[in-house]
Amino acid sequence: MKLIDTIPRMTTLVKMLKKEGKTIGFVPTMGYLHEGHLSLVKAAKKHTDVVVMSIFVNPLQFGPREDFEKYPRDIKRDEQLASEAGVDVIFCPSAKDMYPEGYATYVNVETLTETLCGASRPGHFKGVTTVVAKLFHIVKPDVAYFGQKDAQQAIIIKKMVQDLNLDIEIKVMPIIRESDGLAMSSRNVNLSEEERREALVLHQALKKAEAMIDDGERDAKKIAKTMEAMIGQTGNVRKDYLSIVDAKHLDPVATVSGEVVIAVAAFVGKTRLIDNIIKRVDPEKTKPSGTRKGQG
Ligand code: AMP
Repeated sequence: MKLIDTIPRMTTLVKMLKKEGKTIGFVPTMGYLHEGHLSLVKAAKKHTDVVVMSIFVNPLQFGPREDFEKYPRDIKRDEQLASEAGVDVIFCPSAKDMYPEGYATYVNVETLTETLCGASRPGHFKGVTTVVAKLFHIVKPDVAYFGQKDAQQAIIIKKMVQDLNLDIEIKVMPIIRESDGLAMSSRNVNLSEEERREALVLHQALKKAEAMIDDGERDAKKIAKTMEAMIGQTGNVRKDYLSIVDAKHLDPVATVSGEVVIAVAAFVGKTRLIDNIIKRVDPEKTKPSGTRKGQG
């Protein structure tokens, strides 16, 4: 496995790989790797010749009062895990290399970035799309892999790729969870023992929502209220947002129908965590029985 820490060296390698006709699979991360990241590597290995993983804690996507400084970092540990997972190249540029003095160009996707995490974290997605666009230009991947864990991010990246006519396939992979259901996140390491226990309520609330929908509940407000009550029972978990939105445009829905994302963000102590589930409901089944096609 190669470790490349400058943009010119990465550019040279990419040119060589392209000349050899190799396809490039790309997994952008902020490091402190876990099974969620490695599941993206596994998918990339299946479909492309060379897997490039970037590790870059992007200052541009953190607000002034957010956890940029506290974000966990351990490149030695990451090198080991990435190499075991079969990553071919780690690209870990410095912030100075990515944003030299006088840097002035940004990529911003409108509308989709204004809700959910975008509403709570102004400027966050502008930072994400800017860094991902830069990384796409440097790494020139054929396929790039993202996690459903960051559902809004994945939708925004797809929109950017479509709007800017980038010739890159975006693949979104399922959320990898700890055995008790907590969504894996680099930030989980910052949780105290008690917070770690209480953080589980996010997944439990999502499972409850899923069960309510399976039982026929379609009233988004009712589902959200039940989830909020569950989260409210914990001492350390403070809801940031809880939304049931349509999976395409991220617009809040009043009635669960078609494909929806149930998305939650919460502070567990000082650590902000997000989680979601996608639920598909056949619109036919939301109608009272007797009006369905083929009946009566
Ligand atoms: P991060 O390092 O947190 O910026 O994440 C890098 C990539 O890994 C993003 O595409 C995330 O959506 C994805 N990812 C993070 N956590 C998980 C998880 N638990 N399951 C699947 N993908 C994940």
